Formats: sequence, C-alpha cells, structure tokens
Amino acid sequence: MSEHSTTGLIHHPYVPPAGFEAPQVGVHKASTVIFPNVAAMRARDWRYKNGYTYGLHGTPTTFTLEERIAHLEGGLQCVLAPSGLSAIALVDLALLQQGDEVLIPANAYGPGKDFAKHELARYGVSHRLYDPQDPASLAAQITPATRLVWLEAPGSVTMEFPDLKGLVAVARAHGVTTALDNTWGAGIAFDGFALGCDIVMHALTKFPSGGGDVLMGSVTTRDEALHLKIKMAHSRLGLGVAANDAELVLRSLPSTALRYHAHDRTARALAVWLQGRQEISRVLHPALPGSPGHAHWQSTCSAAAGLFSVMVDARYGGAQVDAFVDALKLFKLGYSWGGPVSLVVPYDLPSMRSPAPYAGTLVRLSIGLEAEADLRADLEQALSVL
Ligand SMILES: *Cc1c(COP(=O)(O)O)cnc(C)c1O
Repeated sequence: MSEHSTTGLIHHPYVPPAGFEAPQVGVHKASTVIFPNVAAMRARDWRYKNGYTYGLHGTPTTFTLEERIAHLEGGLQCVLAPSGLSAIALVDLALLQQGDEVLIPANAYGPGKDFAKHELARYGVSHRLYDPQDPASLAAQITPATRLVWLEAPGSVTMEFPDLKGLVAVARAHGVTTALDNTWGAGIAFDGFALGCDIVMHALTKFPSGGGDVLMGSVTTRDEALHLKIKMAHSRLGLGVAANDAELVLRSLPSTALRYHAHDRTARALAVWLQGRQEISRVLHPALPGSPGHAHWQSTCSAAAGLFSVMVDARYGGAQVDAFVDALKLFKLGYSWGGPVSLVVPYDLPSMRSPAPYAGTLVRLSIGLEAEADLRADLEQALSVL
C-alpha cells in the first residue's frame, strides 16, 4: 500500500447523510474530537455540554446516557464513572479534604467502607460508622468536621431498611451533605431526591445494565454547584467510560422497570416460601413483615429489588451450608446482581460486622429472570442436601 493510500484511509471525503434516526443513539467513540477551527476549539465548554472537546469529557453516547440516568433518578445532572465503586470514591474525593469526616452506615457496601478506611485515611479524612436504623445514632456521631453522610437502603447483605427520612432530616438539620447509594432502589422503588438526598449514586452495573456484563456507576445531583464540584473532580481524576459499555446500558435502560418488577415478584414469592422451611431460621427481605426496617420500606417504597438473604438455621454448620450452595444448579455462585441469572453467595457475617447481628450462616440470593417454579425446585433439591 502506498503512503498516499494510507492517508486516504484516514482522511476520507465521505460525509454521512443527515436525517438518519433510529431508536438507539449511535456508539460514538473518541479520544480525539475534531474542531472545525480554532474559534470553535476555544468556544466549546464541556462543563456545560455546549460542545464536544475530548473523549474523556463526553461524547453524544455518554451525554445521552447521563441525561437518561438523571431522568431515571429524578435529578438534573449526572456524571458516569467506570464502576459503582469508582462513583462512590468520586463523591468522597470531590467533597472531602484533610480534617474532614464522613459518616457511613455500619451495614454499607463493604468496598465503599474499605475505600474510606484505607484510602481516605491516607489523606487525613476520617470516617465513622453509624447505626442506620437509628437516626439518633447518626445525630450523636455528627461533629463540626462532618462533611458528608452516606445513606444506603437497604443495608448490604443484611438488608435492613433504614429510616431514610429520619436520617436525611438529621443531616439537613446539621447542614451536612447526603449521598445515597441507590443501587437497590434503582430509581424505581423510591425517589431519593424527593426524600431530600443531595446526591444519588447508582451502580449501573446492576439493574440498568441488567446483563451481568458491564461495570458502570453514576453520580446524579439536582444542584448545579454541587454537580460542578463533582464534575471537576471527575475530570481531574480522568474517569471515563467506554462508548461500547455506555451503549450496553442504553440498550437495557428502557426495560429496567419491567425487569425490576419481574425480579421483585419472583423474589418475594420465593422469600415467602423459604420462610416456611424449617432449615431457614430467618428471611431478610425488607418487603416481608418481620424483616428489619419493614415499616420504613413500607412507608418509603413502591417495589423491592430481586435480592434477599436467608439465615440458615444454626444447627447446620458452615460445611453443610457450603454443600447446600454447591448443590444449587440454576443459582450460580457469583457476586453482583440485577442480571438474568440467579446468583448465590454465602457470607461469613462475623468477619463483616462486629458484633454479627444474627447467628448461623447467611446466604444471599439474587433472583434472576428464570421461572419461579424452576428456582423453587432448585432450592428445594439443594435444601435436601442439608
Ligand atoms: C455493586 C454495588 C456497588 C459497586 O458497583 P460496582 O460496579 O460493582 O463497582 C456499590 N453499591 C452497591 C449497593 C452495590 O450493590
């Protein structure tokens, strides 16, 4: 190939026709964005989405996804991060500085707590854990150094639904910014901004992706100044998401609510059935009467995700519970949730929380989109192993 023809492969004369419309936005891939002239280069300001400047600052694909996630959450602005965990870290890094303190629910998503414990601590930011079931516990922990309160509903793995309204009221009374991890609610079960939260973070990895095949997170706000603070930190940290990943989420987004309610229906039916099994001492599902925080779930939510945990009766040892988990066939052993495949993880509570809130071994079930009867039969045959 001559050098001349190589140039022709790069600088081609083709201009796509205007007027092409399709249900999905195109996959626009770029690090470099080309400007028609220097004046345009100087005039464009990615902070306000008045033009495209560099792939890291957004493309038509990622801007579209940001607008749709903002809509889903009832917010006004949104930034995308490469995972849910990086979205948590972004909020922390954007809002906290040396001498500040962040308060985190004791039952929060573990890696978010680890980020505070191991990374924020190195920058002189301290964290403390509060009891999310008790707004008075939060009030007692707030000091003049408290700059951020994380909220999560329900708690990770143990599934307690907190008094979100009470917690937000306490933070507001002290003028402290609140950030909600809304991954479980997914913008469907309840409206975090209507409850008064300042920031809504979402692991899009779960329900919006819906496939178990993409990692992404979002940080949504309703306040322009708060958004800009997060957006500038986002840019300076160099956080970007790939166009193909954004496309996967855009493709699944329209069916998020339908899938969410399908996961919810099957999960609730199986949770009720498991309550009646003698091998199970406790079912932890916020929509079930008797589960911790059920009254708060009832006053806050119109739906529940397809996620719940069971305490296997303490008369069965850890090895027996492992055998039960290994005997499951449709439930696959793996982390995460929100995809079509049902998943199971046994958790060692004493190593996660001290003191451990329940006796026995905890098994978390993420209900996928399989037929309820098939999942029930799978649980039944595996329980017989106990
Ligand atoms: C999965 C999850 C995250 C982290 O999302 P990743 O994309 O896996 O990093 C954060 N919070 C909650 C509640 C989650 O379930």
